[in-house]
Amino acid sequence: MIKYHPEHEQLVKFVSGEADPAWSLVMSAHVDMCPFCQKEVEAISEELSHEHLSNDAHVTMDSSLNLMMNDIMDLSTASEEKEQSQTSYLELEGRRFELPRALRRFASKTDSWSRLVGKLWQAPVDLGEMGKGHFIFMEPGGSVPEHTHRGNELTLVINGEFQDGQRCYDTGDFILMDSSNTHTPVATHEDGCLVFSYVDEPLYFTSGLARLLNPFSHLFFK
Ligand SMILES: [Zn+2]
Repeated sequence: MIKYHPEHEQLVKFVSGEADPAWSLVMSAHVDMCPFCQKEVEAISEELSHEHLSNDAHVTMDSSLNLMMNDIMDLSTASEEKEQSQTSYLELEGRRFELPRALRRFASKTDSWSRLVGKLWQAPVDLGEMGKGHFIFMEPGGSVPEHTHRGNELTLVINGEFQDGQRCYDTGDFILMDSSNTHTPVATHEDGCLVFSYVDEPLYFTSGLARLLNPFSHLFFK
């Protein structure tokens, strides 16, 4: 069950189009998976449109506006159709993982998987102007070495679950970590765990041999 959601203020920014594009992407993928946030987004949109209308009392639904609305509706139907022809899943070692709608357009922009240390797989995703994101797959028992963050780390659990010593994250959970968090994610589910991750600065490994990775950490997870 999904337990971790974006903050209300973040969702407000998302709905009003003020969120950072990468945040918007991860939030939108979470909303695709989360009925609770779908309702939140709906309520926020309604609230914002009321505010907008009361600020602008002269808006009338004249015929040109109606025509424009029809055009917009047509456009969105066309793009939805296009979306359906896109790959909706990611493959790794013969397994297929369904992607949330918002991430599907990046399925074809995902590089091949490479195996890292400790039952860990990584596939970089070209997000265009947003830079790079990563799909990370932890095999059962696989873990990311203990690390902290120089910037923000946004994670969305696509399939499976993982623990990080303090919490257990399930499919659909939205997780924000920053420099105040140090953690060691471990995949506890028998199916392993697939996440989508976006960091704005490379990770900083904090213990053991993994510290030797720090000079190269921009090569993984960033
Ligand atoms: Zn949610």
